[in-house]
Amino acid sequence: MSTSRRILFVASEAVPFCKTGGLADVMGSLPKVLWQMGHDVRVVIPRYQKIDQGRFRFLPLMPEMNVLYGGVTFHGSVLRCSYPGTEMPVYLIDQPEFFGREELYGASNKDYLDNNRRFAFFNMATLWLLKGLDWQPDIIHCNDWQTGLVPALLAAHPIVSEDPFYQDIKSVFSIHNLAYQGNFDKFTIPEIGLPWEVFTEKGLEFYGKASFLKSGLMFSDKLIAVSPTYAEEIQVDGQGAGMEGSLRLRSEDLHGILNGIDTSVWSPSEDANLHASYSRGSIAGKAKCKADLQKNLGLPVKKDVPLIGMISRLIEAKGFDLVVDALDELEELDAQFVILGSGDTEIESKLFNAARRNPEKFAVHIGYDDPLSHRIIGGADMFLMPSFYEPCGLTQMYAMRYGTIPIVRRTGGLSDSVFQADKLSIESGKGTGYLFESYTKEEMLKSIYEALTCYQDSKSWKQLQQNAMDKDFSWIKSAKEYSRLYEELLLEDEV
Ligand code: ADP
Repeated sequence: MSTSRRILFVASEAVPFCKTGGLADVMGSLPKVLWQMGHDVRVVIPRYQKIDQGRFRFLPLMPEMNVLYGGVTFHGSVLRCSYPGTEMPVYLIDQPEFFGREELYGASNKDYLDNNRRFAFFNMATLWLLKGLDWQPDIIHCNDWQTGLVPALLAAHPIVSEDPFYQDIKSVFSIHNLAYQGNFDKFTIPEIGLPWEVFTEKGLEFYGKASFLKSGLMFSDKLIAVSPTYAEEIQVDGQGAGMEGSLRLRSEDLHGILNGIDTSVWSPSEDANLHASYSRGSIAGKAKCKADLQKNLGLPVKKDVPLIGMISRLIEAKGFDLVVDALDELEELDAQFVILGSGDTEIESKLFNAARRNPEKFAVHIGYDDPLSHRIIGGADMFLMPSFYEPCGLTQMYAMRYGTIPIVRRTGGLSDSVFQADKLSIESGKGTGYLFESYTKEEMLKSIYEALTCYQDSKSWKQLQQNAMDKDFSWIKSAKEYSRLYEELLLEDEV
């Protein structure tokens, strides 16, 4: 291994503590793998009310932490535990007024109005924590807008940038989703105590707002997008949520690294959520998982009727406008659908109506349900992900690992992880799923029909399943790329 480095991951969610999406999955695995590779890795997250106290052994680390910025002292504290199954330290920043709430970012489909104050505190408190610990990381690795202020604080906040303790610390910013930007009133700047000089086009100003995301994009030393294709796409006008120009400016420092998956959580041979276990060499258990899923969701238990699964936030960006638009055609198919998710109420009710009209074909489960998500990945034959854009996407990789064939739009990480199946590519061991290009219902349906046709040919289908299960999506390869990138950054500075 290369030199062991001190790396602090800062994130607003991490499995197994709290999760709303793929970011939490990544934070639950990448730091652990880097730690296992020999780096001194630590993770810091807010201590939300949602985090199950009883499950993790938190110990008080700093019972009182007074964080001063913008002329105000904020009182907080820090707890500590080890990442389950390892000795890797996890720090939880506690501030009941900010984090002692029902949800992470907002309730009833509305963001909390003081998210700027909540996450500014989290970012600043993270830096205070380091001083309190007297632990100087080589790199602070920030993730998405909730941690985007850290690079600006390091570069320009008088309390931080003028303190020698922080001067050698480098920052890396990961883009998990550019659509969520944390754009706030510009008077957030003096509130935090940042100088107005940061509020420029080349700084964190974004159409008159103070953008926490843009702060991460402009002030960090390196940028990482969660797949190579997404790293390219977001620099193209119209595909970078307004940040294209800024990203092109940082093009040399922007790298795309495909996320991996945590194979200790997602493996059909060890998954306790499944009705039966199975593996690439012995796939019989998958049929039992399918029958169990059909039975439990009230669908007719039919072995030969293909079952198509979806697990997602129910929003247009995930392709649900196409799905809703195609409901008439989907209801005609000799196939069953199981959909798990929550989000847009209009999409929810249209899917519900389909299930009411056609209970034999549609099972719709509104909500967030981790065990059920495993049972769908295991029990379904196919997995539909017609996303308009997809930075990386994890569920298609989970699906392939479970021999569940993805049908996806060719965008972002979906195009980096799924290889188009056809007669030749299936036989040669390459094809792993079905992809469509244009974002239209017709193209999506065409891919679904192709998959259903292949399903009828059991020999080809089995081979396709084997190909998908053969793919290695574990973190090791990507973690090595991260490690190389850290090294490059630190050596640049030492030269
Ligand atoms: P995103 O982060 O954009 O939501 P990803 O595919 O990267 O999309 O990650 C989503 C993660 O959240 C996956 O682990 C997926 O299984 C999980 N997930 C999404 N919706 C639900 C749900 N309703 N119930 C359980 N897990 C869900």
